[in-house]
Parts: sequence; C-alpha cells; structure tokens
Amino acid sequence: MANGSSYVVDFQAFKNLRNEFILKEVTIIDIVKRVDNNFLIRPPQPYNQIPHKLKKRVDFITNNIHGLEWDSGMIGFRNAVALIKGILKDASKIYIKGSERVNYFKKLLPDKENCIIDLDPIVPKIIPPLPISECAFNHKINHKCSYKQAHKYLIYVYFYENF
Ligand SMILES: [Zn+2]
Repeated sequence: MANGSSYVVDFQAFKNLRNEFILKEVTIIDIVKRVDNNFLIRPPQPYNQIPHKLKKRVDFITNNIHGLEWDSGMIGFRNAVALIKGILKDASKIYIKGSERVNYFKKLLPDKENCIIDLDPIVPKIIPPLPISECAFNHKINHKCSYKQAHKYLIYVYFYENF
C-alpha cells in the first residue's frame, strides 16, 4: 500500500429530500502523474419526473451552487461508480474536502475507507484566486466546478505530501 498512488477528488452534487448526495460532476486527479478525469453523471430520473419539492431544491442548487443542470450527464450512476473504483483501484491516499464528502466517499468505496483523507486541515479556508482553466462542461458563470476545486486543492496536497 505504501507504493500506491495519491489522488485528489472533488465532486459537485444535488441533494435529495433526505439530504443525501446525488452525484453530478466528479473530478479525480492523480497527484504524481497529473492526469485528471472529469465526468458528469446522469440523474436517477429525468427532471420532468421528479416531485415538485425536489425540483425546487434542484433549481436552487443549479442556480446558486454549481450551475449544472439536473438532466446533464453522459454516464449512469452505476457506471460512474465502476469508473471511480477503477481509477482509484491502486490508491493509497484519496484526498477529499469536508466530512460530508469524506463520509459519502467512504460509503461509496468501502474498500478504500482507510485511504480517504479529509482536506479540511490541509487546505486553507480561503484559497486565493488561481489561474485554473475551466472544465469542459457548462457551468453557469462563477459557480462551483469540481474540476477547478480539485485543481485548487492539488497545490496544497502537493506541498503537504512533500514537506
Ligand atoms: Zn466543471
């Protein structure tokens, strides 16, 4: 395990009415190889089939948090989980920010539970603006993008691991 790879992960999501994450955008960066994966996950049901109460929550998150549409995405949830597991197969360290995301990922990847590290003590609360390119997807301007978030965190992890 000591020779495994380190990864930075961020995801943007919706929340259902039980306050559980519904994954929308995932970014995984291999810290050493500097290779990144960034993909959008299709919703469990189309927007026009979800309850009104959930629509209101979804609209709020789209308009105020990440700017991604509920119906966007190219792979289904099961395939996304298989993809995530495949990418992180050899991981010995997986950095994710915040206990809520950490706990979600621990449930998603029970085999990797002990490899998941919370970025909260590593990344400063306020990150100065960095020149990071946009992801390929359509976020409404200035909304949170997992690709940008993960690349911001990467810099701090890189220093953290080397010093
Ligand atoms: Zn993005």
